[in-house]
Amino acid sequence: MAIRVNPTFIDVLDRFGAEDVQLCYQCGDCSTVCPHADEVYKFPRKSMRLLQMGLEKKIETTLEPWLCYYCGQCSEQCPREADPGETMMSLRRWLISRYDFTGIARQFFKSRVTEVLAILAIALLTGLFMLYYGFSGGSIHIYDGPGAFLPSPFIHKFDLTVGFLLAIILLINAIHMWYLVMVKGTTFHVPWWLYVKELYQLPWHFFTQKRYSECEKKREHPFYMPWFIHLGLMLGYVTMLVLVMVYIEKLQSGPAIRWSVHIFGYLASIGLITGTVYFIRNRLKKNYVQYKKSHGTDWVFVVLLFLIVLTGITQHIFHRTGFIEWANITYIIHLMCVVPWLLRMPFSKWAHLIYRPLAMYLAAIRKDALLRQELITDASPVTIK
Ligand code: SF4
Ligand code: SF4
Repeated sequence: MAIRVNPTFIDVLDRFGAEDVQLCYQCGDCSTVCPHADEVYKFPRKSMRLLQMGLEKKIETTLEPWLCYYCGQCSEQCPREADPGETMMSLRRWLISRYDFTGIARQFFKSRVTEVLAILAIALLTGLFMLYYGFSGGSIHIYDGPGAFLPSPFIHKFDLTVGFLLAIILLINAIHMWYLVMVKGTTFHVPWWLYVKELYQLPWHFFTQKRYSECEKKREHPFYMPWFIHLGLMLGYVTMLVLVMVYIEKLQSGPAIRWSVHIFGYLASIGLITGTVYFIRNRLKKNYVQYKKSHGTDWVFVVLLFLIVLTGITQHIFHRTGFIEWANITYIIHLMCVVPWLLRMPFSKWAHLIYRPLAMYLAAIRKDALLRQELITDASPVTIK
């Protein structure tokens, strides 16, 4: 089969954040130092090579970019300052745009203005819709129960609708990822039962991000803080998602605090505040190699999340202390941040919440299949020596 080359692919990736790929001269130091590269998944050197060769169609079927957790050790080691860690990050952004069937992700990654305008438009529509609903049937002086400005059953239906939309888009994109990797990109036989055998990988990697902690295994002085904070941040927003999708009526009741539900909200808020402040601070200070180059989309994610937590806490305090009108107003502002943040997920870096564990799962299946057939040397779509 003919191999199609895209000579402008490096330029395309430039817009996703990979600026120095052409500097790489294939010494292989980056793969030597990488804590996750192995005999099957040889990165980041191989990814750099595929990029330099313009093998766009090969790259879209690879899992390697998802196996990198951006510890930055390869970029620190690279004698040519080709920044392989940032290249892997850029490839993940590009892959997200490839998996996305709507084409929205591509537009967002290419144009910050488009993304910001879309976020503002959705925020505005959400705010107007909430104001219209509130004033047409409720009172701004009532927070919950009969006559409430934004009654919890209405918010619950609204949340479920947004959640359903999100789940459908993500599911279609995840199937697309599976198709590219396991159908288009796999030339050897994969027994169906391996999908069952390795199924535990999905929840395991989703809830522990253990591989992220393993980024430190080759360091002389391991530093686990980024993994710990990232895990806390992820568990924080997953807990919040479960609370608003399932327990919103208990969450919104009050003013008395329902500890059985609110305690999880408080713990999640601690994780979210700590995580967003930590990542914003690092991106501002550029104190680690992985924070030296922030793509515009990285900022949108973390700043919106920070605003969500801030408005959520403020609204909660207003409600519990009897400032009902202010509680309703901050609730609308809170929703104006939440809805665009949620709807943006399939089209942004945040989609790695789904793609990363899925990649770990598919990588384990492929590796298992290869080991059984002893095809490891032929594992790569393109063998580079
Ligand atoms: S990215 Fe740097 S370390 Fe890696 S192969 Fe290229 S030149 Fe060598
Ligand atoms: S950033 Fe870390 S995990 Fe990613 S390729 Fe480089 S060394 Fe490997």
